[in-house]
Amino acid sequence: MRGTEHLIPEARCAARAFADECRRRGLPVLITDTLRTKEEQNALYAQGRSTPGQIVTSCRYPHSLHNWGCAFDFCKNVVGHEYDDPDFFQKCGQLAEDMGLVWGGKFKNPDRPHIQLREYAPDKTAEWLCSHYESPEYFIKIKKAEAKDDMTNDEFKDMLEHNLTPGLSREIVLSGMRALAFEPCDAAWESEAVAWAAERGIFRGDGTGSLMPKKPVTRAELAKALKNTFEEGRKNAEKDA
Ligand SMILES: [Zn+2]
Repeated sequence: MRGTEHLIPEARCAARAFADECRRRGLPVLITDTLRTKEEQNALYAQGRSTPGQIVTSCRYPHSLHNWGCAFDFCKNVVGHEYDDPDFFQKCGQLAEDMGLVWGGKFKNPDRPHIQLREYAPDKTAEWLCSHYESPEYFIKIKKAEAKDDMTNDEFKDMLEHNLTPGLSREIVLSGMRALAFEPCDAAWESEAVAWAAERGIFRGDGTGSLMPKKPVTRAELAKALKNTFEEGRKNAEKDA
């Protein structure tokens, strides 16, 4: 059993908000399980198969969202009656769904104590994560780093290099990264456009290497960008002539 601090930040916030809201409604929840390591997941998978006990999971590492820090389990915080109150799980599960989370009670093979982030299900499954990130450990590391205000340039660079954004080639991510000087964009088109403008000298940033892609532009800056565009175009035309 681990605390919610081992989850990725979104899941940690969700778990805490869920537990608070349940308690507020008189539903005594206890978070029992959050992140599972490779060893823990595989030991759990073995349970009921090669080791004694009941089968409790259909997933081997890294195919459970628990391995990715995106899921948590709960029970009723009443000794001796942790799992014997279907009404309790139904109410908590419905609340989780109302909060935008995915409740395992609605799975084909219901897993009533289980809740996971919606963003990573059903289309962004563990399989999707496996194909986009090196490992669950790496995914959790970068998710935690992303949420930190004091993330260093090296951490961000490391994150971008390993996070192959869907629809973006590694080259575009890397050129975008150089151009952005470690300031993230939300969408692929933003990264591409900023990289394009930087390569052509249209935007030159604040002089320290940052292009500040999220900052608003003043009329003077726009005029300078247009002047840069014009001058770069003229230079290229002279080169070609
Ligand atoms: Zn679970």
